[in-house]
Amino acid sequence: MSSSPTISITKSSHSKLSETDFSSLVFGKSISDHMFVADYQNGAWGDLRIVPYGPMEIYPGNATLHYGQAIFEGMKAYKNGKGEVLVFRAEANAKRLNESATRMCMPTLPENIFIEALRQLLAVDKDWVPQEKGSSLYIRPFMFAMDNYLGVKPSESYRFMIFTSPVGAYYSKPVSVKVETNYTRATEGGTGEAKAAGNYAASLYPAQLAQKEGYDQLLWTDGKTHSQIEESGTMNVMFKIKGTLITAPTGKGTILKGITRDSVIQLAKDWGHKLEERFLTVAELQESLENGTMEEAFGVGTAATIAFIHKIHVNGKDYLLTEPAADSFSKNVLKTLDGIKYGELKDPHQWMLSI
Ligand SMILES: *Cc1c(COP(=O)(O)O)cnc(C)c1O
Repeated sequence: MSSSPTISITKSSHSKLSETDFSSLVFGKSISDHMFVADYQNGAWGDLRIVPYGPMEIYPGNATLHYGQAIFEGMKAYKNGKGEVLVFRAEANAKRLNESATRMCMPTLPENIFIEALRQLLAVDKDWVPQEKGSSLYIRPFMFAMDNYLGVKPSESYRFMIFTSPVGAYYSKPVSVKVETNYTRATEGGTGEAKAAGNYAASLYPAQLAQKEGYDQLLWTDGKTHSQIEESGTMNVMFKIKGTLITAPTGKGTILKGITRDSVIQLAKDWGHKLEERFLTVAELQESLENGTMEEAFGVGTAATIAFIHKIHVNGKDYLLTEPAADSFSKNVLKTLDGIKYGELKDPHQWMLSI
């Protein structure tokens, strides 16, 4: 067992709390008072510190700006009825950060640094965790290259940071999606499995085209044949067809291993629900929409938890789905995950980390 890392704390002299309207939170707009910073130099992480959130200086030659070694995580903290702060599946995020780091040729971060940084940052900024049900504190850990050097090679220095942002419900309305058969999010052998900043940069243009046509998100298909459904926007996607839950498998490196996805699969297994981890083809998708066997379609991810899909565009046609009933699988999953996160239901898989 490694001992707890030492983190220095410099508190902000002016809290922004009183200027923040917790009743009208816009995703990602309000940032809490403090941030965690650690620097990687000469092969080791050091100078662990919590400081007031604010700008930082980097050189124009910073390697991230040119060659894009940048990865991130997204997770949430909740307050239970007693005002205690709980974080959902933090160890899973710490592990995934390191998987992304390895793929992007970046150093891994000891998990105890990740967890201790989170604990201490959330202790300092605990008043930023909203109390209201449906609200939470979004947590953004990220790592990027720090070398001031233009040669194309992995950077030798890196920075890891965490800052947080109080958020309300992400998608209040069900979303419309369009099956994308031209652009590609991920290909086998690519970086689709890593939570890499560049994956997001590459997805913005096709997403914007779809938005101009009136759709909220894309349903990404595989890069080779565009015949299989992979993900929805920046979420994993699940379908319930004739009573069976179907979601894309993660083995090929094109599907981001969502922690929400994993949690929903675990609940489906706990409940003895029929489940297939396999690629749904675009043809099957369209057929199930034509013949009415598509029962539920929803995105799964940290920001929204469950994003109900009410419209799917495929091969030139729009198909509408009715809102799932109160006892549907997706509504039950949302209720159960919320219950666990807000400390109202038992947590049989020890998903919640108490701060
Ligand atoms: C982050 C992300 C997800 C969802 O992962 P969670 O751990 O559930 O938040 C899904 N797809 C992509 C592309 C992502 O970047």
